[in-house]
Amino acid sequence: MTPPTVAVVGGGQLARMMAGPATALGLRLRVLVEAPGSSAAQAVADGPVGAAADVAAVTALVDGADVLTFEHEHVPGDVLDAVAARGVPVRPGPHALLHAQDKVVMRERLTALGVPCPRWSPVSTGEELAAFLAEAGGRAVVKTARGGYDGKGVRVVRDANEVADWLDAAAAGTGPRLLVEELVPFRRELAALVARAPSGEVVTWPVVESVQRDGVCAEVVAPAPGLDPATEAAAVEVACRVAEGLDVTGVLAVEMFEVDDPDGGAPRVLVNELAMRPHNSGHWTIDGAVTSQFEQHLRAVLDLPLGGTEPRAPWTVMVNLLGSALDDPAQALPAVLADPGVKVHLYGKDVRPGRKLGHVNVSGHDLEDVRARARAAVALLRGETSATHDGGTA
Ligand code: ADP
Repeated sequence: MTPPTVAVVGGGQLARMMAGPATALGLRLRVLVEAPGSSAAQAVADGPVGAAADVAAVTALVDGADVLTFEHEHVPGDVLDAVAARGVPVRPGPHALLHAQDKVVMRERLTALGVPCPRWSPVSTGEELAAFLAEAGGRAVVKTARGGYDGKGVRVVRDANEVADWLDAAAAGTGPRLLVEELVPFRRELAALVARAPSGEVVTWPVVESVQRDGVCAEVVAPAPGLDPATEAAAVEVACRVAEGLDVTGVLAVEMFEVDDPDGGAPRVLVNELAMRPHNSGHWTIDGAVTSQFEQHLRAVLDLPLGGTEPRAPWTVMVNLLGSALDDPAQALPAVLADPGVKVHLYGKDVRPGRKLGHVNVSGHDLEDVRARARAAVALLRGETSATHDGGTA
């Protein structure tokens, strides 16, 4: 009997981290990588090189595969349609994925579903933006509908001139559409992680707090400390409504803002962003939950029963390794692993300033201890030897 083959577009760390669970479940993973030796190519035996936008490369990838899935959303619709036409299931499907590709489409659909979002509007001229700014108290967040990641494609502005380049490109048809949102005075950022199978089975992990620096996820605390049970229930309900309403299959991460309730009740949530794949806010599940988001994604896209999502410890803290002074962060392993509770995940990527090179998970009963140890481990991986340093993450 041939084991199921899962074809994955994208050769970064997210595809790399599917390799372990695929091996454990006896699945075959075939990953379309952007370049030989990429993060995922180092971890899978079957890693053809090709671009996500190349119809021939993607159709060859799915030849003999049971399902096509992704580690990023940047796959053009015509490529997905070509795969679907060959009878290979695409999960999540093109109709769902569109909402993770285009922020205007996402905002329109979430608004129609009654999902709470920041006040927003599409904008195509400086006058429209100026009018929104005037109503929003003089500051707002302008975003490109497509192509943004890690805060690229997001600008906080006071004046339409600050995005003149984007407005010009959109008007000329050489750049993506734009939208503007109120600048949300959030208490903190939360993320709800859901997995949904084609069978309709849906599971959720505990809602986490995610700490962003310069638009990049720096740390995640699972579960979100001090989260009001009513806020948690609202976050989970919203995430499930999105998963079902958009017919998502696989893992869905819903990034949210926690905001004060104007009526003095439990804090509320507003949805910021969707990711239809394993997401940085879910890396804690590898060591901190019964089933990791990577295993769950494989189970979900193959329509297998989903695994338990219970935390393995009261607290898990994930700290990202963003850049390093070392040639290779692995040089620090002897020092880092001296703490037996530290779980290191390195992505095999060349060091560049600010680049996501890996992450560390630490679980335990005492949140401050767990957080301090995770930060200390990352400081060592960054080549900062002082034990008192906070790893540049404070
Ligand atoms: P990306 O797609 O690049 O990840 P996001 O839309 O998630 O962009 O925005 C990146 C970060 O910018 C968010 O994590 C948040 O910190 C901040 N941000 C985005 N939208 C808003 C908003 N409407 N109000 C306040 N902060 C925002």
